[in-house]
Amino acid sequence: MIPRILAIAALLVLAGPAAAQGSPLPFTLKQIAPGVYAAIDGPEHKAGSNAGFVIGDDGVLVVDALFTPDAARALVAEIRRLTPKPIRYVVNTHYHADHTGGDQVLRDAGAVIIANKNVRGWIRTNNLNLFGDRITPELKARIEALPLPDLVTDKNLTIWLGGRKVELRTVLGHTGGDLVISVPDAHVLFTGDLLWRKVAPNLIDGSVKEWAATAADFAAMPNAARTIYVPGHGDVADVRDVQDFQAYLFGLRRLVTEARLAGLKGDALARAVAPRLKALHPDWAISDRAAAGEVSFMAEEIAGTKRRPVPRPE
Ligand SMILES: [Zn+2]
Repeated sequence: MIPRILAIAALLVLAGPAAAQGSPLPFTLKQIAPGVYAAIDGPEHKAGSNAGFVIGDDGVLVVDALFTPDAARALVAEIRRLTPKPIRYVVNTHYHADHTGGDQVLRDAGAVIIANKNVRGWIRTNNLNLFGDRITPELKARIEALPLPDLVTDKNLTIWLGGRKVELRTVLGHTGGDLVISVPDAHVLFTGDLLWRKVAPNLIDGSVKEWAATAADFAAMPNAARTIYVPGHGDVADVRDVQDFQAYLFGLRRLVTEARLAGLKGDALARAVAPRLKALHPDWAISDRAAAGEVSFMAEEIAGTKRRPVPRPE
């Protein structure tokens, strides 16, 4: 009977409103706790990153806006399918366009855009560096028109959705302007890009030293063993994934340190370390381009030449 039940379940999934319109969602929507949802990007990266939302007593708080307006519209449609409550906030975990590209759609849906204080100064400029030679005229125009956050903070913040508490925390490691969002009653932590599950993280703006300390804090949180972590990239995670991620950062640092001590640098360093890094994490997705980036950013950090985004005057 089990296959039949699965077949019925599959039909029910297919019968959802998005499928009825003939366009599959750019993410997989997962309910991870009562009124708490994770939108997980698929293998084709149509959403660009993960997002999520929390339905409270009197409104909805969204975590991240995905990369494209179309993906953000799909997220708003899913929220509308689940609740008529107003979309009151979107919290950007950081400035990267794969998490903020849909902000205008969320704002048009009624949300106040909340972010770390540094995001206003970086969102329209530093995102151009993020894409480097992959930038297109269309993407450049879109980035330069991104809305600036309405409410910014360099401190922790509590938002009450009626009686439901949502906590925003500033954390170090990924960009120098990150927020993580917890829902204490549901033991859920939206980590933004401070956690990647089985995917090599983007270190372009990061400090592995700070980042590993933040990952250690995540793993040592009260109730860590029962906490559901929603990473910025990769599937919904648990504390073992956080520890695995921490081990990845330590492994990268160790391999690059050893290769530098052996006198390697530049391309030779990347060529020597990349296969060893992949071998440490055979079940991770680490492209050749990503591996080369990981190694060179780590080498810069160790050498003290790593450039990180600098807060801009308001
Ligand atoms: Zn990201």
